[in-house]
Amino acid sequence: MKVVASYGKEDLAKVYVAQMRDDPRYLVEFVESLQPPVPREEKWVFILSTSFGCQMKCLMCDAGGEYHGKLTEEEMLFQVDHMVRRRFPDGKVPIPKFKVQFARMGEPSLNPAVLAVLRKLPIALDAPGLMPCISTLAPNGRQDFFRELTEIKNEFYGGGMFQMQFSIHTTDLRKRNQLMPCKKWGFEDISRFGEEFYQKGDRKVTLNFAMAKNYPVEPSVVQEYFDPNVFLIKLTPLNPTQSVARNELQSAIDPYVLETSEKVVNDFKSYGYDVILSIGELEENSIGSNCGQFVSVLRDSGYQIREGYQSESYQTNQ
Ligand code: SF4
Repeated sequence: MKVVASYGKEDLAKVYVAQMRDDPRYLVEFVESLQPPVPREEKWVFILSTSFGCQMKCLMCDAGGEYHGKLTEEEMLFQVDHMVRRRFPDGKVPIPKFKVQFARMGEPSLNPAVLAVLRKLPIALDAPGLMPCISTLAPNGRQDFFRELTEIKNEFYGGGMFQMQFSIHTTDLRKRNQLMPCKKWGFEDISRFGEEFYQKGDRKVTLNFAMAKNYPVEPSVVQEYFDPNVFLIKLTPLNPTQSVARNELQSAIDPYVLETSEKVVNDFKSYGYDVILSIGELEENSIGSNCGQFVSVLRDSGYQIREGYQSESYQTNQ
């Protein structure tokens, strides 16, 4: 396992590409990022990959290209270890909000080793602020994974130290199936699970909407299924990935024009939801730190970076 390239800025977001096995098919990317103006001393975010490519093939995501299987527990821990030891060689992370998201390449619930990593992280690191986050579209047939995840959350990450996120994106079910073309839980299933998962003191379960034009988001539909005392709403623009361009998707939220999100934010609030509008740093998009896109670019170009991914801070260890 070795890091073969890195890209980005230390004070915003840095993408690492690692070759996990002796074959270029086994490349993954992982990310560390900050949320300016919040300094690293207060909040640090890791975004990990759980598979080589992704089987799910969501229309907006560059990770859904070639799929070459799941990462092992060791390969996931390598990502954490690499980023932690660069800054904290003794493995002590004194940051109050240290978020570790399983949200880069791969649908985490399809990889049971994610559960082993969640059990191991509190032992492997001395990190009182450790807060894992699972971001999932909840594929069918993974009930056992989610049952065990609930046990792990209750055992290791109580008191608000875990984030559970579901990808909803649109309330139009036919269009939702187009965006995420796999068999997955419906709104009733997600709602039932969230009600059981959420305990007093936990963070509310997040419903993620990466909003695209012509993919409706109706707060009145959401409120039919999801209790605002248990679920919160997170709205983001659609990230400018290569897949978004290829599939001719357009973001419904313009990160430069906040009025484009005003109505939907207010509508959700009127139903009693907490709403997070997560615009992100625009520069982060040019770094490519928002989606699983860097490995495919690196692989397709034979380790040459194409225009749009170039940066003075790009380094390759090849
Ligand atoms: S959004 Fe997630 S589940 Fe969908 S293709 Fe990308 S990595 Fe896979």
